[in-house]
Amino acid sequence: MKIRKDDTVLVIAGKDKSKRGKVRSAYPKDERLLVEGINFIKRHTRARGQARQAGIIELEAPIHVSNVMLLCNKCNRPARVGFHFLGDGRKVRICRSCHEVID
Ligand SMILES: [Zn+2]
Repeated sequence: MKIRKDDTVLVIAGKDKSKRGKVRSAYPKDERLLVEGINFIKRHTRARGQARQAGIIELEAPIHVSNVMLLCNKCNRPARVGFHFLGDGRKVRICRSCHEVID
């Protein structure tokens, strides 16, 4: 996937459009990301012993990678991501606006 844990992303679609947040975890299999402060859903919970209180809690839900763009930490713009192979065979991501290596 083009986006990984600890990246900062910009939301480009959905109700959190134009917000930004840090990727808390990535689920490459589902092509989804859990982003800090993005895509809250409300869950109604029932008390379960003393550990949990009944009521409504808000949780972040994973959003699809196609709804976000990676924010380049070099040029600070939403970046389209490309790949590049280094001399030692390592594959790195590059920002296609400033052509800097992202990781
Ligand atoms: Zn850049």
